[in-house]
Amino acid sequence: PSALRDVSVETPRVNWEDVGGNEEAKLRLKEAVRWAVATNSQQFEDLGISPPAGVLLFGPPGCSKTLLAQAVATEAKVNFLSVKGPELLSKYVGDSEKAVRSIFRRARSVAPSVIFFDEVDALAGSRGRGGPEDRVLAQLLVEMDGIAADSKTSVVIMCATNRPDMIDQALLRPGRIDSLVYVGLPDLDARSQILRIHMRTQPCARVNVASLAERMEGYSGAEIAALVREAALVAMEEDVANAREVLPHHYETALARVKPRTSTQQIEFYD
Ligand code: ATP
Repeated sequence: PSALRDVSVETPRVNWEDVGGNEEAKLRLKEAVRWAVATNSQQFEDLGISPPAGVLLFGPPGCSKTLLAQAVATEAKVNFLSVKGPELLSKYVGDSEKAVRSIFRRARSVAPSVIFFDEVDALAGSRGRGGPEDRVLAQLLVEMDGIAADSKTSVVIMCATNRPDMIDQALLRPGRIDSLVYVGLPDLDARSQILRIHMRTQPCARVNVASLAERMEGYSGAEIAALVREAALVAMEEDVANAREVLPHHYETALARVKPRTSTQQIEFYD
């Protein structure tokens, strides 16, 4: 179907080593996918239950939700389909329900697979107004129920949002999304790991990662990645012709430029 030419099926190249911290989220995602692709689906039937269905990843922006979904797909060697909620509404105007149907059809045909719905609140946020969101959400629910009813189809649904309060409760019924995973700001240890991941390819041996991490409380993973990049740019600004190494003082300047944006209010909001 033409509407879907740009929803690519891929095996992402993100591995667990590329995702710092988030140990608990990693465990829970592994479990979700392991159950869903379990070949002994008969066992679920014998026990009179259906395999766990979908997962909702929620938390502040730039905190590894997408990375985690990609990593779990890579590790489990399953196909990965990624769709952004707002895109479904804007790109396929008038055709959004058809697009939802074909995403699921495609996911089944390449199963075992993960469908990742990013910014899912865009779909589920304003139900009951008769807009296109309503029809897309209704179609999404139908498809999710279809997967839940068929214990032989190994399609895992992962949704992500910064606004769990905007998610329609219908999505969270048993058999649809039954696992909520919080992905928060990285703690000290996670910040060190994320710094190391992004500094892997940077010549910056003189930079003290531990003390940098200590001073970066409140930074998201995305902001940590931005800082590492900024430090290299600072080094180049200083001496375009000869910059070969990123030094501690470059990081100092970068720290002054890249500031954390997640407010305490935003963090408390997830509690
Ligand atoms: P959003 O809510 O804005 O969609 P997200 O939670 O899905 O964000 P990601 O897309 O996973 O965030 O992260 C954005 C970028 O930040 C990643 O591509 C990566 O460069 C960096 N990053 C975030 N978290 C981590 C992490 N735990 N380890 C390594 N890099 C990270």
